[in-house]
Amino acid sequence: MVTSKAPEHNWSGNYAYRAATVHHPRSRDELRRLVAGTTHTRALGSRHSFTAIADSDELIVLDRLGEEITIDRTASSVSVPAAATYAELAEALNRQGLALANMASLPHISVAGAIATATHGSGERLGNLATSVTGLELVTSTGEVLIARRGEPSFEGMVVGLGALGVVTRVMLAVQPSYEVAQVIYERLEWDALFDHFDEIEAAGDSVSVFHRFAERTEQLWIKRRTGAAEFPSQLFGAPAATSARHPVAGSDPINCTAQLGEAGPWSERLPHFRSGFTPSAGEEIQSEAFVARADGIAAIKAVRELADEIRPLLLVCELRAIAADSLWLSPHYGRDTVALHFTWRRDQVAVERVVARIEAALAPFAVRSHWGKVTSLRAGGAARCYERLDDFRRLCKELDPRGAFVNDWLRAHVLGGA
Ligand SMILES: Cc1cc2nc3c(=O)[nH]c(=O)nc-3n(C[C@H](O)[C@H](O)[C@H](O)COP(=O)(O)OP(=O)(O)OC[C@H]3O[C@@H](n4cnc5c(N)ncnc54)[C@H](O)[C@@H]3O)c2cc1C
Repeated sequence: MVTSKAPEHNWSGNYAYRAATVHHPRSRDELRRLVAGTTHTRALGSRHSFTAIADSDELIVLDRLGEEITIDRTASSVSVPAAATYAELAEALNRQGLALANMASLPHISVAGAIATATHGSGERLGNLATSVTGLELVTSTGEVLIARRGEPSFEGMVVGLGALGVVTRVMLAVQPSYEVAQVIYERLEWDALFDHFDEIEAAGDSVSVFHRFAERTEQLWIKRRTGAAEFPSQLFGAPAATSARHPVAGSDPINCTAQLGEAGPWSERLPHFRSGFTPSAGEEIQSEAFVARADGIAAIKAVRELADEIRPLLLVCELRAIAADSLWLSPHYGRDTVALHFTWRRDQVAVERVVARIEAALAPFAVRSHWGKVTSLRAGGAARCYERLDDFRRLCKELDPRGAFVNDWLRAHVLGGA
């Protein structure tokens, strides 16, 4: 067994891991013995979450299992080692002329870590990344290997597993023939235009994001479309198309972003906002994200705009996105087409926690849910009201992890409560 010193902190540097040791099992048997013999442990992905979600007494990183990405063309499926990043997966799929349905804003994250928190991209017809999962292989706390497939009882509870059910070793995902995407950025869309034409704007691309900083008007409207669809117009509801590349965070270099200006390219190099091999987003930052039902989207955006004076001093940028409803028990998009209000904050933990609590209180009338990988004030009691299948998930945790090996403080606070 290879062990190393745990990384001091997560990607953004706003959370310091308390674990001192990371284990890097070199085989499934080593992993099984390790998990069964450790009192409290957790799998760590690429460390892109902003909270204590991945922490434990000891951590497990699956970077030495030495497994390959394998493609089953007949089943339109790919089987991916859990620690592979979306960038690595996209490279393998592109070699075979295949693609995923969607990507997050960055390809740097691990597949298992992303699906564990229901990481999403944008697009009113596209579900979050976990909705592409057709199967999972995991090692439970007894050291058993469990294979779960779509359609089986409890499968929909296992995919967005928050790391609480076992160490996922492989993820099976649905794939489709490769496609090209082009993106155009429109600038300075007026708030009234957004509200009056919300449905048309969301339908204007396969992926749509509105970036703003609570100013007089919005800043950037990113529209991504599969090629072959209609041409991009030169303006959209009064917002002209940008004539040079943009970065969503003011003052940051667009070299870090995927190609714009309508230049067609592979799905994997357009659906994420940020390029593999470059720093995504701002770097020194904290993120939070609130989800409401699509039908409440405009009212929710307006409610949060009331807090603009409190938000602005801490804000780097806010992004509005749409996500299709799904049936994964702990998905924040469970059972409702969703509008996401995403915030990239300056890295001031105490002040961010305070303003996030204010935003989530303002969104409480909309049964707000929050991103599992980001800062939130919502706790297990509140979660219970918003997730119909939470009790089922808690039962699943007890069934698959009866000794609580994967329970950590974050899980107790946000999901398990006193259960
Ligand atoms: C710059 C930036 C941009 C982002 N953009 C987006 C975005 O566009 N959309 C979005 O929804 N989110 C976004 N996020 C959030 C990010 O996608 C999530 O926090 C995601 O969970 C990170 O994955 P990770 O591999 O880093 O997991 P980690 O942060 O390392 O871990 C997250 C969880 O996954 C579990 N886990 C990891 N590996 C395994 C495994 N093998 N088995 C079982 N459990 C496992 C951990 O135990 C933990 O519970 C962004 C984050 C950053 C920093």
